Formats: sequence, C-alpha cells, structure tokens
Amino acid sequence: MSEQRVDAVIVGAGFAGMYALHRLLKENFQPIVFEIGDNVGGTWYWNRYPGARCDVQSMEYSYTFDDTLQQDWNWSEKYAPQTEILRYANHVADRFNLRPHINFGTRVLSAHYQEDDQEWLVSTDDNKVYRAKFCIMGTGCLSSTNLPKFKGIDLFSGESFHTGDWPHSPVDFSSKRIGIIGTGSSAIQSIPLIAESCEQLTVFQRTANFSIPAHNRPLDKQYAASIKESYPTFRAENRQMFAAFGSHQSRWDDSIFDVDDDTRQVRFETKWQEGGLGFTSAFGDTGASKQANDIAAEFVRNKIRTIVNDSEVAELLCPDQVLGCKRVCVDSHYFETYNRPNVQLVNVKEHPIEEITAEGLIHKDQHYQFDMIIYATGFDAMTGSLLKIDIAGKDGISLQEKWQAGPRTYLGLCTYGFPNFFTVSGPGSPSVLSNMIITIEQHVNWIIDCMTHLRDNNLSTIEALEEAENDWVMQTNEIAKGTLFPTCNSWYLGANVPGKPRIFMPFAGGFPAYAQICAEVAEQHYRGFELSA
Ligand code: NAP
Repeated sequence: MSEQRVDAVIVGAGFAGMYALHRLLKENFQPIVFEIGDNVGGTWYWNRYPGARCDVQSMEYSYTFDDTLQQDWNWSEKYAPQTEILRYANHVADRFNLRPHINFGTRVLSAHYQEDDQEWLVSTDDNKVYRAKFCIMGTGCLSSTNLPKFKGIDLFSGESFHTGDWPHSPVDFSSKRIGIIGTGSSAIQSIPLIAESCEQLTVFQRTANFSIPAHNRPLDKQYAASIKESYPTFRAENRQMFAAFGSHQSRWDDSIFDVDDDTRQVRFETKWQEGGLGFTSAFGDTGASKQANDIAAEFVRNKIRTIVNDSEVAELLCPDQVLGCKRVCVDSHYFETYNRPNVQLVNVKEHPIEEITAEGLIHKDQHYQFDMIIYATGFDAMTGSLLKIDIAGKDGISLQEKWQAGPRTYLGLCTYGFPNFFTVSGPGSPSVLSNMIITIEQHVNWIIDCMTHLRDNNLSTIEALEEAENDWVMQTNEIAKGTLFPTCNSWYLGANVPGKPRIFMPFAGGFPAYAQICAEVAEQHYRGFELSA
C-alpha cells in the first residue's frame, strides 16, 4: 500500500480543524484533513434537529483571527441558528480556500507512532496510509452520540432519530405520535418546535434541567454595528471573561449573602429578562457555595411554577440538582410547551424505560404507541471521538489503555507517551466550559506556534513530561473540587455513559488563567515538555 507523506494530519473539519488547516497553510506546512462528514462544520454539520442554535450570542460565537471576515459577516439573530452557523463555516472554507486540503467522507481508523522515524502512521477507511510528523485532533467534544442500549431498540418499526445525528432531509412530524427521550439542551431546544407540528408528544425525563429563556430576536443592527466598530476591543474584553464571552452583559461578583432578599430577586429578574447563560453571573458565589446556589436555583424553580399551569407537571420539571452542575440550557418557550394539550411528561427517574418495542416503548407497565422515537440522549463527550480511533503512542501503548481510568493530559493539549500529538479543546482544557471558537483559536495558535518553533530550531519532537502531566491532572482535579461542578451526574464527569470513568474532564479555572498558563509555558521554553532533535 502506498504511503503519502504530509507534515500534519488534522482529524475533523469543524471549527478546530478548519482553523488549524488555515494556520498551517499560512506557515507553509503541508497538512491534510480527514472528515467523516460530507462537508465542513463539525458539530453544526450533524446537529440539525429543529431549534438547534448556539447558546453563545452570535456576535461572540465566531472566529476572531481575521478582521475583514468578522466585518464582512452579518448574523441575523441574537443567537444564531444551526443553519446560519453552518453557512458561516462553509463561507470560511471557501473564503480561505480550505476545501482542496480536506478529504470528506473519510474516517481515520488508526494513528500509530513510529518511534524509529519519529512519525505518525495514519490509516483511513478508504484504504490509504499517510506518514505525518504531527497529528492534530480536532475531533470535537460533542460529536460522538450516546445511544443508550435500551432492550429491543432495533425492534421499533417507526422512524427513529438521534438529535446529534439528524437527517439531512426534512423530517415530517405532522399527524404523528412522537416520543422523545432526554431533557438536555438538544431536547429543550427541539421540544417546543416538534410539539407545534406533531399530533402528540410524550417527553421521557430522567433529570429535570435548569433552563433560562434565550429571548432570541432578530439581531439589533445598531448593536451589531457598534460591536463591529471596535471588534478587537470587544474580543479582548471577552478573552478576559471566565468563559470567554459575556463581557457586555450585566454581572456582579459580590456574595449573595451581602444583599437582602429584595435585591436578590431584582437582580435575578434582571438576569432572567436578559436571558441566556449569563444568569449564573448574578452573584459571585453561586458556583462555589451550595447555600448561595440553592437561592438562585429556587428562583428558577419558582419561574417554572409560574409558567407551567399544571402544578404536578411543574414540580416534575423543577430540577433538584445544583444550578450549573449540568450545563444550563437556553430555551425558547420550553416550559410553556407543557401547557399544550398535546404534550405529556413522563418521569423515568425512579423507573427507567423498560424496553423499546415494534410499536413504541414500555415504561412502568404502560405501552406507549409511537410513530417516531427521538433520542435526545447526548454524547460520549470530550473523549468519545478520540477513543474511537485506534491511537498508539510510544511502546505501542494505546490511548484507550492510557486513559482507562480517565483522560490524562498536560494542558489539555498533549499527553505523555504521544509525541507530536495534539488535542484541540481536549480534556484538561477549558473547552466546553468556555466559548468554543475562542478556545479553539487559542489552542490552535499555541499548537501551530509550537510546530513553527520546532521547525525553526531544527527540533523534531515535543512530548509532555510525565511529571508535568501528573501535576496538571492534580491541579485540574483540585480546581474542580473547589466548585459545585462534580456534585451531579453530568456528561462533564462522563456520568452519562455507563462504564465511563468518572473524572471531571474540563479545566474549571477559567479561560483567562488557562490562556496565561499556556503562554507562560511556551515562553519558558515549553516548560513541562521534552523537545528533542
Ligand atoms: P445531554 O445534556 O447529555 O442530555 C441528554 C439527556 O438524555 C439527559 O436528559 C439525560 O438524562 C437523558 N438520557 C440519557 N440516557 C438516558 C436513558 N437511558 N434514559 C432516559 N434518559 C436518558 O445531551 P444534549 O441535550 O445533546 O446536550 C449535550 C451538550 O451539548 C449540552 O450540554 C451543550 O453543551 C451542548 N449543546 C449545546 C446547545 C446549544 O448551544 N444551545 C444545544 C444542544 C447541545 P440525565 O440527565 O439523567 O443523564
């Protein structure tokens, strides 16, 4: 089998893969990208379910690396819909002439490090083999769907879809009885729209979720123009924010216990009316103090009780975990949807779904009859797509073996034993706790600067030191322990996938602190890495 030699293999043509490709081309490297999908966009290519839109505002959720790009592109809504984000991804691919370097419809099967040659041998499902000095994994954090192994799942005779792998042709809900399993962000976005166009919708809820209204609307043209006038400043301000977005929204850092109850209610109401993920920045201590969090959570529960007419349904929809422990959802008329006569909520917390049948599903001795079942059951997050590839580093040790007890990285960028192998927004980095495009740019810039440094200094490899990795894993765990994040069964912890090790995967110390550490590491001659000739 012939082997093609390249400088770098990039896996994935989402926002990470596209930017890595663009930067490598600019630096005169010879990269090649492999993408399973037939087009660019990554998570926005696959997640086409009704109502899919970003929960970071459109003026903030875009590339920052090219000022004319950000000046030229016009967003239409406060929160961009999936279709528009996908159009943007396609625009970027065309504008920067990326497509000739992307092999679409191609899955990377394996990547094995060859110690003698200091190269990666990469095989793809079209029976080709590539030799590359570097591997850059832009495989995404929420791209491997999690489909629970329900008994009888293959027996269902109607239509069934996963929100994360939605058909590319229109799905007709009219006159259909539909069951949807899950009440995470994907379900919360899609339920109101599906309910409007189907005959009967039954929602199977295991854990009620916190959701804040988006108050989505057409983007105010004056607001967009004012941001564009000083886009670099706006971007710089956002990079100083904990999650790399939200600098223009109201926020307070004081303690909830420093103000009286009336002030709390006014402030929460202000944030509720503003809408979106910023709700959690009403006070400085709701992410770390359980007592403070309880007060914020009760405000949201009271909102749900006000919106939902049936008090029993309202109580079922009231979450009992810590607010923000699972990612807060952002919705358009989600709770209101339960006031519709054609929507029913079924609690599957104490009694799990028993089995899927040809006609529907069985729960607590009741046989529900459906024409369509929608699995809104989430993802094998952060590690799923990486571990699907047969990746082996030094001494033939596989990534699966190395990460058996949970992912271990240095800075979320590299892992000991795997030289010249980089993960973009991987476990151990702020990743899913931050504005993903900003995180991606910061990671890709660090990686490409590092590769350029190696080339300019006649160095061949970079590898994380075991001790630096151990310290980073310890530091990441300690930071997470100081927050309320690990207190519930979230996908951040891998708790949604049976058998997955429970480790809080993202770095919870905030984007600014993290970016500074990465910059210092590079300045200090790649502290914690071994660079070799
Ligand atoms: P998710 O948050 O993991 O939600 C999956 C849902 O399926 C949960 O309600 C889960 O219940 C339920 N579930 C899983 N297995 C089940 C089972 N065996 N029986 C019954 N219920 C089961 O997944 P998602 O909604 O796709 O969202 C994942 C992440 O993607 C979000 O947190 C967000 O970061 C991102 N996302 C973002 C947007 C946006 O930008 N607006 C939109 C969609 C997704 P449990 O909670 O009990 O596990």
